[in-house]
Amino acid sequence: MADITTNLIHHPYQPPSGFAAPQPGVFKASTVFFPNVAAMRQFEWKDKSAYTYGLHGTPTTYTLEERLGTLEGGTQCLLVPSGLAAIATVNLALLRSGDEVLIPDNAYGPSKALAEGELAHWGIRHRYFDPMDPADLAAKISPQTRLMWLEAAGSVTLEFPDLCAQVRLCKAAGVPCALDNTWGAGLAFKPFDLQPGQLPPLAVDISVHALTKYPSGGGDVLMGSVITTDQRLHMQLKLCHMRLGLGVAANDAESVLRALPSLSLRYRQHDESTRALAHWCQKRDEFAQVLHPALPQSPGHAQWQALCGTGLGAAAGLFSVIFKPDYSQAQVDAFCDALQLFKIGYSWGGPMSLVMPYQLDTMRSKWPAHLERGALVRFSIGLESAADLQNDLLQALQQVV
Ligand SMILES: *Cc1c(COP(=O)(O)O)cnc(C)c1O
Repeated sequence: MADITTNLIHHPYQPPSGFAAPQPGVFKASTVFFPNVAAMRQFEWKDKSAYTYGLHGTPTTYTLEERLGTLEGGTQCLLVPSGLAAIATVNLALLRSGDEVLIPDNAYGPSKALAEGELAHWGIRHRYFDPMDPADLAAKISPQTRLMWLEAAGSVTLEFPDLCAQVRLCKAAGVPCALDNTWGAGLAFKPFDLQPGQLPPLAVDISVHALTKYPSGGGDVLMGSVITTDQRLHMQLKLCHMRLGLGVAANDAESVLRALPSLSLRYRQHDESTRALAHWCQKRDEFAQVLHPALPQSPGHAQWQALCGTGLGAAAGLFSVIFKPDYSQAQVDAFCDALQLFKIGYSWGGPMSLVMPYQLDTMRSKWPAHLERGALVRFSIGLESAADLQNDLLQALQQVV
């Protein structure tokens, strides 16, 4: 009999095999055992044919990768610790010193900060293009352009670009395009089949997704995914991902797996309440503009309708308002503070509604012609009753006079 210290580690008990239940097991590991040295030398992690190390994948992460691939219509998926890490992985895998990357001017803010910070330090140039003007994008493609970012809709100003035209420009120039698909979530449109029925499919090359938002659904997980349909591109991303040491925790992967079955139900409910509130805001006197792609007056409405459906379509759970210029920033801040159900916080996709004032003049190269001037507030609509949220907006507006 060995010492208790050893027996507690090398314990003979094995639970019975054949445990089957609705949710997959949670496998947590850094070390993975090999049956013998020959197997250790032979096992290959790159094609997922075996397990070699926790960072290279576990049954839990492989299962999540497969489901996310199915959701977005891709065949290969990498998991990373945040949505921003997904964006960074794509940049680092595809760009070298001297290259240029194109980014929409309404892109997710930290994506622009990464370009202006680390990418610039490493000699990678970036240019911002007008998301609403394909001619501007075309004019900014140069022989040095090696990557193009796309986003539909913009996550603060909600303009909906002509995504198909943008992707066609990338294809014509032979530049890979990566879509930040957090808003669409794989539900509003299919990033790898933008015009269903068309052969070959019109597709982005890479779809990144902040799983932090709708897939997690709880406001309690940070995670991102990088999805492709191209094995060669996937391997380029995967090697960079491995060398950077990016991995996700098993418990977090489990949280996302647990939330995925209700994803489309939640997305539809967020969408329905958001439309109701955006319509209500549009009738109010306080606002110069309401930004929500399903509103006919909102920038890019026709492009949204063409991509996301001529019927009800899908439009996620975000909308923004621009207050009339007679409201000072202090009044708009007081409005945000007066809200009770809406919490002041970043992110979206959880059960609680959120509000955030944004200072657009610090975020854009220039004030876009399609946006009114005034203080902008973005709402992320949760799963509360829309009537209660509307009453909350009303009481907060009434306090700001
Ligand atoms: C939140 C978000 C991200 C980043 O996700 P994190 O997990 O918070 O890093 C990227 N893109 C968009 C559009 C987002 O909304």
